[in-house]
Amino acid sequence: MDQRFADIAAPRPEPEALAARYAALHAALPGDVPGTLAAWDALRRETDAWMALAHLRFSQDTTDPAARAEREHADAMAPVVQGHDTTMKRRLLAEVDRAAIAQALGAHSPALWECDITTFDPAIAGDLEEESRLSARYTALLAGAKIPFAGQELNLSGLAPFAESPDRETRHAAEVARWGFFAQNGAELDEIYDRLVKLRHGMAVKLGDADFTALAYRRMRRLDYGPLDVARYRREVVEQVVPLVHRLLEQRRRRHGWDRLRYWDEALIDPEGNPGPAGDHDALLGAAQTMFDRMDPRLAGFFRGMAAGGFLDLRNRPGKAGGGFCTAFPTTGAPFIFANFNGTHHDIGVFTHEMGHAFQCWESRDLPGLDQLWPGMEAAEIHSMSLEFLTHPHIGLLVGEAEAERFRRMHLISSLCFLPYGACVDHFQHQVHAYPDATPAERHAMWQRLEALYMPWTDYGDLEYPAKGGRWQAKQHIYNSPFYYIDYTLALCCALQFWLRARRDPEGALAEYVALCGRGGSLPFQGLVASAGLASPFAPGALADAVREAEAALG
Ligand SMILES: [Zn+2]
Repeated sequence: MDQRFADIAAPRPEPEALAARYAALHAALPGDVPGTLAAWDALRRETDAWMALAHLRFSQDTTDPAARAEREHADAMAPVVQGHDTTMKRRLLAEVDRAAIAQALGAHSPALWECDITTFDPAIAGDLEEESRLSARYTALLAGAKIPFAGQELNLSGLAPFAESPDRETRHAAEVARWGFFAQNGAELDEIYDRLVKLRHGMAVKLGDADFTALAYRRMRRLDYGPLDVARYRREVVEQVVPLVHRLLEQRRRRHGWDRLRYWDEALIDPEGNPGPAGDHDALLGAAQTMFDRMDPRLAGFFRGMAAGGFLDLRNRPGKAGGGFCTAFPTTGAPFIFANFNGTHHDIGVFTHEMGHAFQCWESRDLPGLDQLWPGMEAAEIHSMSLEFLTHPHIGLLVGEAEAERFRRMHLISSLCFLPYGACVDHFQHQVHAYPDATPAERHAMWQRLEALYMPWTDYGDLEYPAKGGRWQAKQHIYNSPFYYIDYTLALCCALQFWLRARRDPEGALAEYVALCGRGGSLPFQGLVASAGLASPFAPGALADAVREAEAALG
């Protein structure tokens, strides 16, 4: 990759100019189908690149008024763009031969549009804009956290390392501080979510759905599975994984000689202290280059270009939005990685994870049609989570050779522990949207009941706010990306299969992985899974092999 982030630019879309460009596209139909499809795809890439830049710059500094104004313009324009695209997709599906569309923009694209056109109507344009505004309010509220701790003022990312300190008192104090922030803002967090739930339910009803769940699945472009498949998979997690995690936590409790394992003990996965990065930001990036050099020439060349071109923003700083993500500029195919390094193992997890997304996006850049650039999120998370596991043999470069085995073990345990939590977050959202008129207190009670099913070991001690069912409010996906969460657990089921395969055949597993990245979004989820020779998470017993091997590997 030979590009510079500073050169990435796209014109700011304005309502009138955009309308004129779409009108010109429509005027060229039905005469010039290939030309119109190509011009439309180019226009979509341009708009998409601008949107990505606006969202990225706001995340880089949520306090910058100019960045905020651009993000607000992006929020206002998103439904306008969606309106134009929906109209175009409807017309193409009605008037143009499928073979011609498949030829120009890929065979999977029209199947996606059939789904997309059911998720938008001008009647919900205002609601979509309001949804973005509420979501930005949640992001800014959390990004603005100024938590006094150990003589400093920290944001939530800055507090995280203390929550996994080897010192039990420090971990406890960090959780007291963190949940103090949520308790202080609990009323506002409830209000934002209450408005989001009712708004989303209202949009679904306007589109002819009984509730938001069906619409959410279509918004996520889930073409080849539904809520019943997901419910079956969650049961698999309860039956296969919950008992194993329970045993692992019990083992940890005994090893430390604690009478009870408290919530603040869950983050200390390694009894000697969770191994973290062996060096600072710059050292980590240098070591990562060596790692990719040893793994695969395509990964190596790609990462060299990302670092040299300025497509990484990984340091935590005040005002920066929390979390990590990968975005991309489809005009040039370049991806960008955003993270908040804090000196813990999460830096490595986030880095290898987002690198997987970025690499997939880059490998897919020449597939025809914007719709094939990314697969659905459940498939996209296979690329990211599998790279977390495929870097295992070389992870000593990032954490130090002496810590490598402890890191691998910790990563495997934390992945297993994640499955019940991820399924709980998903189940919660299904319940919330089945009862959109529930009160905030009833929602907290729903979470508590599900927590008892998926994480029966949870003991909050004196942490009152999460003990009363408030833990979900720290999970940004629930607010900002509804129903985007089971995706991580479905993908993890596939990533664990890559882990299994790589333990027997590292080169074969890596080659299969790179090939899967290159197939991008050219197939629906289970099609992509099958194309890589993986078992679908919806197949009975899909987690059994991984759970058995993990248990053996962990002793
Ligand atoms: Zn991801």
